[in-house]
Amino acid sequence: MAAVARDWFAGRTLAIATMHGKEKVLAEPLEKALGVHCVLPEAFDTDRFGTFSGEVERPGDADFTLRLKCQAAMEATNCDLALASEGSFGPHPMLPFAAVGEERLFMIDRLHGLEIGARSLSGLTNFQHAEVSDLPALQAFAKSAGFPEHSLILSGVIEGETKVFKGLAQTEKLESAFRALITSSDTIAVQTDMRAMHNPTRMRAIATLCDELLERILCICKGCNQPGFGERHYQRGLACAWCGTPTERVLSIETKCSHCGHLEIQLYPEGVEAAEPGNCPDCNP
Ligand SMILES: [Zn+2]
Ligand SMILES: [Zn+2]
Repeated sequence: MAAVARDWFAGRTLAIATMHGKEKVLAEPLEKALGVHCVLPEAFDTDRFGTFSGEVERPGDADFTLRLKCQAAMEATNCDLALASEGSFGPHPMLPFAAVGEERLFMIDRLHGLEIGARSLSGLTNFQHAEVSDLPALQAFAKSAGFPEHSLILSGVIEGETKVFKGLAQTEKLESAFRALITSSDTIAVQTDMRAMHNPTRMRAIATLCDELLERILCICKGCNQPGFGERHYQRGLACAWCGTPTERVLSIETKCSHCGHLEIQLYPEGVEAAEPGNCPDCNP
């Protein structure tokens, strides 16, 4: 009989390592798809694993932090299944003035020795920061950042001490924080609040990624019969139709099992066996 991935998880408790309201978009789809019961560790302070506004440095790279969060959540709730999330934001590597947001979800199943993750990169983020010295500049920033649906953070120095106002979601509060800071600072730093509950764009990205993760969790590997098959790699190099030179177009999608290495290759995923000469570095440099 074919293994059913859901059977690996049904009836178990899954700890969601979060404190920024992400369980609102995670718990229901996880419970529905896996048959688990989601719990939140009480008084779980994920800020000790790093904050977006920079007061706490992350202890390591994203994968390392995700593992730490999962382990802490399992210990706090005394269960053997946990899910953690990480977001990071920065300037777009190719496009000037654009930003990208990266979201990661990671599940650890200690009972079966499984680690299954999913990751998404998107230009759909409001991430930005600026220095402002007057109210119109602040208002312009707020408008472009999707305020007040998306919260803002203001920081500056008052009497030699850095003051940070987070989660500003009302014009009145934003402006009073600005006035409090402007009395002693010439310029004030403003940034988008990237904590999920203050950022509906992020919340939507996490919900979409959760669907992708679930699809992967529910996919059984043909090589080792374990859930979590679906780590995709896009191989570029589809040959030019005229001269055969490899182009940037996708030649194949390789799907690999991170556990046993079982590999499935889908050749010509775009449905064509050669690239338009327009995409060729030789024919159309
Ligand atoms: Zn496998
Ligand atoms: Zn060519």
